[in-house]
Amino acid sequence: MHQINCPWCGKRDEAEFQYQGDASVTRPKPNASEEAFFNYVYMRENPKGWHTEWWHHVSGCRQWVKVVRNTATHEVHTTGKPHDKLSKPKAGGRK
Ligand SMILES: [Zn+2]
Repeated sequence: MHQINCPWCGKRDEAEFQYQGDASVTRPKPNASEEAFFNYVYMRENPKGWHTEWWHHVSGCRQWVKVVRNTATHEVHTTGKPHDKLSKPKAGGRK
């Protein structure tokens, strides 16, 4: 059973959360090209390994949580509030 550490509620079962997407993409500047906006809206990496993601604590405080998760093992390295800068571990995570 995996748990996610909500910055507001503490450790909770992952079933209380919903995955909401890639938290590493940043909105292009207003004068950026149409292609830049297309890529921002539609194009996503599908990485195997550490990934910075948005999770929504839907059955808890309903806040957005930033999560560094390993997509291969589902191990959660760290969590934070939306404006926190989170670092990924260097290695691929435990087996
Ligand atoms: Zn919460």
